[in-house]
Amino acid sequence: MAKKNIPYDQKYYDPEIECMPRPELEKLQLERLQEMVKYAYDNTVYYHRSFDEAGVAPEDIKTLSDIQKLPFINKQTERDTQHVGTFFGEMCSVPEDDVVFMATSSGSTGVPTVSPFTQEDFDLWQDTEARLFWQAGMRPNDRYVHGLNFALYVGGPDVIGAQRLGATAIWVGAVPSDRLMFVLQHYQPTVIWTSPSYAWALGEKAKAKGLDPKKDFSIHTIIVAGEPGGSIKSTREAIEEMWGAKVVDFFGLSDIYGACAAMCEAKDGLHIVEDQILVETVDPVTGEVLAPGSKGELVYTTLMKKARPMIRFRTGDIGYVSTEKCECGRTHARIHVTGRKDEMFIVGAVNVFPSDVEYVVRAERGLTGEYSIRVYNENYTTRYEVSVERAQGSDEAYDAVSKRVEQALKAHTGVRPAKVIVFDAGKLGVSSEHKASRFIDERENN
Ligand SMILES: [Zn+2]
Repeated sequence: MAKKNIPYDQKYYDPEIECMPRPELEKLQLERLQEMVKYAYDNTVYYHRSFDEAGVAPEDIKTLSDIQKLPFINKQTERDTQHVGTFFGEMCSVPEDDVVFMATSSGSTGVPTVSPFTQEDFDLWQDTEARLFWQAGMRPNDRYVHGLNFALYVGGPDVIGAQRLGATAIWVGAVPSDRLMFVLQHYQPTVIWTSPSYAWALGEKAKAKGLDPKKDFSIHTIIVAGEPGGSIKSTREAIEEMWGAKVVDFFGLSDIYGACAAMCEAKDGLHIVEDQILVETVDPVTGEVLAPGSKGELVYTTLMKKARPMIRFRTGDIGYVSTEKCECGRTHARIHVTGRKDEMFIVGAVNVFPSDVEYVVRAERGLTGEYSIRVYNENYTTRYEVSVERAQGSDEAYDAVSKRVEQALKAHTGVRPAKVIVFDAGKLGVSSEHKASRFIDERENN
């Protein structure tokens, strides 16, 4: 697909779609939903069976809210049906010959799931990435470092979206930090995509080598994804301050696209590409559909994907959706992901998410910002303990740091941690990986 000729100062990549009045957008969504439900029913072993079992036919979808008649799917549905009958299994709607690309999930929550794309799906995906990159501030005169893993990962091909926009793409992938630092110093790229924890760790490493990310690099925009950090104000601002660059949060799913949603300059949630993805919020326990603005589990339906339609996919992500017009002028709904259903822990009847803890750790002075959380059961009660690092050169007593952080956690989350353990800078050992594992769940029967 050819590059679009858009003036660099034009705010929107595709104004007609991005700023479409909601009644029109919803009309478009309904048309696409009706087509997709019929397509899925006619071409997919799984959907044909599950719609029949639920006693619902494609003709029953007369309004957008009729989507509630359709059954949910989740990761387990994908696992149970993949490779059944054919290689791509019962949820795939096309012959294998029509599939040109597959990504897989990380498998961090079980058997990896395989995500197939037709050529048409792939092209639409990359056009969508170009739109989101433009929204993040990327232009054809940018040099873009794609710092995401290419191995099986759905974030890998997103680099093609940057090329489609016209930027110079540097396919770096997940390389050792010295190599990446060489690229940043010698090629002077202007936009980079990595995880928030890695952006932070990389800045620290650069500083330890006597470099100043603000002066020695030319990055003006850091795209982050994969962890909640980009939507946590204190984390985002700490990275922005360190790099002298703007941080833009992206959100994607291996089951759909590398990025499905991105932050705009208003930095109040991430616009989801609603012309292609329908979003619902449901009660994480009962599945009851909630009104926009209510906090619950986010559920997505793809309106255009042909290889494997995802209809009412329960993500396990907890958050809320705002549908009112954003100050940036875009009309597409904004998602606010606040945590994972499986990482939520309940202490004394209070729901706590790792992102709440991160907020505190990044906002408190005198810390490096690194942390880990351990959740465990003791005497039939769930408890949590948090490990943090004192800032480089800090001589504040461990006890004093611990008390201060404990009080801040109590004030922000509503429940006091069992313990706050204080390490010296760099001793916690969680920042070495691109996607840090900071959450240790030792609860039994969870
Ligand atoms: Zn906006």
